Amino acid sequence: MPEPANLLNFTLEALKEFAARELGQPGYRADQIYQWIWQKGVLDVEAMTNLSKDLRAKLRECACVQPPKPVETLESDDGTIKLLLELRDGRRIETVLIPGQGYYTQCVSTQVGCAMACSFCSTGTMGFVRNLSRGEILGQILTGRAELAQRGLDPLRNLVFMGMGEPLLNLAAVLESLTELHRPLGMDFSRRRITVSTVGIPNGLEALGRADAALPAISLHAPTQALRERIMAKAAAAMPLDELMAAADRYPLRERERITFEYLLLGGVNDSPSEARELVRLLGQRKCKVNLIAYNDTVGLPFTAPAPQRVLEFEEFLRTHGLSVTLRKSMGADIAAACGQLAARQAQELPSSLT
Ligand code: SAH
Repeated sequence: MPEPANLLNFTLEALKEFAARELGQPGYRADQIYQWIWQKGVLDVEAMTNLSKDLRAKLRECACVQPPKPVETLESDDGTIKLLLELRDGRRIETVLIPGQGYYTQCVSTQVGCAMACSFCSTGTMGFVRNLSRGEILGQILTGRAELAQRGLDPLRNLVFMGMGEPLLNLAAVLESLTELHRPLGMDFSRRRITVSTVGIPNGLEALGRADAALPAISLHAPTQALRERIMAKAAAAMPLDELMAAADRYPLRERERITFEYLLLGGVNDSPSEARELVRLLGQRKCKVNLIAYNDTVGLPFTAPAPQRVLEFEEFLRTHGLSVTLRKSMGADIAAACGQLAARQAQELPSSLT
């Protein structure tokens, strides 16, 4: 007998084909199943009460609904929840639920490991292992949303593709995920509730712009090509700063939308007044927002968090020079919530057949 199909791997169209082929059912039945799973978060076929008993039995025979499995849950004092999720092949990824005012934001992974090897990033130390499939990316969000519902917490409102991996190096699966995320019959996320964070990959930002499905955040982290080469060599080589800025300038924005540039402050590396000046020179005339992030200390990496006073001065300098700046509160430091910190640590402890 063929292995049951995991319904999470189907787009709405594919689910319609499957329903016709395997179940002899019209398209609206697929709509109903899709709605149960993605809109209502009901994964148990038995609970899909508008399907006949016979159909439910048939569906259970040839299909299953298997989201990534939480194997560890960590909760920070600040309310941040981090889930370590196990995939079908035993690989592990992490996703983080970050509380806001009356809602949560989920930080989503797109790859196991990452090829970009940025010197300050924990995921980078793992190297690239594999891409997540569309079903794994979406299943992760389903699991995050269910975790919030189960705990009676605020609803999930925003998604940031800022977990493990470089989203634009898994472009097809990421773009397909965005299409599903937007479906009114499904999770119904609007474009402005989804941010895709990237170091910048040639043609990737263009493709994201064409998809018209999310806003980008660009991990800039340095105001000059030379400094960017020092701290994120692969990214800087893949897309030199002038090309990156040109691609950012071409990104199709709507009224009042802004591109976000993320700037990770690394103590003594890129947090001096001279870098702040260079950053103003680079971004001053651009329609953008700057998101400053203080480095989240990571065991084994040769960086330290910037002095709090430095962060404030940096922020103040940008602001007084006309830039729109937010300082990202570092959340969940007590549970290793920064990109890849937990999964990277676990990967070192996994049997070698899995790493
Ligand atoms: N590869 C994508 C998305 C994943 S990383 C990107 O680089 O944008 C998400 C963000 O977390 C990036 O801005 C990354 O530079 C930042 N980050 C990585 N390690 C960090 C750490 N230890 N502390 C704070 N932010 C970190």
